[in-house]
Amino acid sequence: MMRREGMPALIDDAPTLLLEGAESLGIQLTDAAARGFARYYAELMRWNRRVNLTAITEWDAAQTLHFVDSLSAAAALPQAALEGGRVVDVGSGAGFPGIPLKLAYPSMRLALVEARGKKAAFLREICDTLGLRDVEVRAGRAETLAHEPDLREGFDAALARAVGDTAVLAELTLPFVRVGGLAALHKKGDIADELARADGTIGMLGGRLREVKPVAAAHLDGDRALVVIDKVRATPSKFPRRAGMPAKRPLK
Ligand code: SAH
Repeated sequence: MMRREGMPALIDDAPTLLLEGAESLGIQLTDAAARGFARYYAELMRWNRRVNLTAITEWDAAQTLHFVDSLSAAAALPQAALEGGRVVDVGSGAGFPGIPLKLAYPSMRLALVEARGKKAAFLREICDTLGLRDVEVRAGRAETLAHEPDLREGFDAALARAVGDTAVLAELTLPFVRVGGLAALHKKGDIADELARADGTIGMLGGRLREVKPVAAAHLDGDRALVVIDKVRATPSKFPRRAGMPAKRPLK
C-alpha cells in the first residue's frame, strides 16, 4: 500500500473551478478528463515531497493557476493542432501547459521537452499513470533537441510557459515548428519591453509576431496573454545556438 499521510485533504470535491474555468474558455471537459486532472494533482503532490515540482499546492490554486492557465493556450491553437496535431511543450517542468491540454484534447500528439532529469522522470510516470497515448517525453535541453531530425520543424505548434522571455523563447521554440505552424507563449504582466527586445530576433528565427492575445478565463486574473508567433520561413540551421547561449546572450 502506498502511504497516503502528508497528502493534502482534497479531491473528493468535484473540480468545480477547473470545470468552470475550462467552460469559460469554450472547453467542455469529459468526466474522464476531470478524473485525470484529479489524479494528476494527487501524483503531483506525492512527488512534490521529494522533487521540487511546484510551489502551488492547494487544490483550488492548482485548478486555476496550473490547469485553467494551461488550457488557456488552446485559444491560440488551430483546431487541427489540438485534434491530432503535433505539439511540443518546451521546458514543461511538471507538465504545464502540455499535459492539461492533452487531457482536454486526447488526440493531440504531444512532446514534452524538459532539461531536468527528475522532472522528466515525473513526466514519464504521470503520462503512464494517466494512460496518455502519443506523448513522448524528451529529457534534454531544447537547444540540443531542436537539432534532432525527428523534432526539428516537426510540430504544428510549440508552447512554453515560464521558461524565459520572448526573445529567448523564440530561439528555443521556433526551430521545432514547421513552416505554417506557430508558437504560443504564456505571458503574465507587462510585456511591452520584452516584445520590443524580441522584435528582430523573431524574424531571424523565421517567425513573425501575429498577435498578443489576452486571456480571459473564469478564476484567472486578467493580466495574462499569449504571444502568438507564426512560423513563416525555415529557421537557419545554426539556431538554436549551443546550450545556454539563448538565455545568456539573447539575439538582437
Ligand atoms: N512550463 C512549466 C515549468 C516552468 S519552470 C510551468 O509553467 O510550470 C521552467 C522549466 O523549463 C524548468 O523545469 C527547466 O528545467 C526547464 N528548462 C529551462 N530551460 C530549458 C531548456 N533550454 N531546455 C529544456 N528545458 C528547459
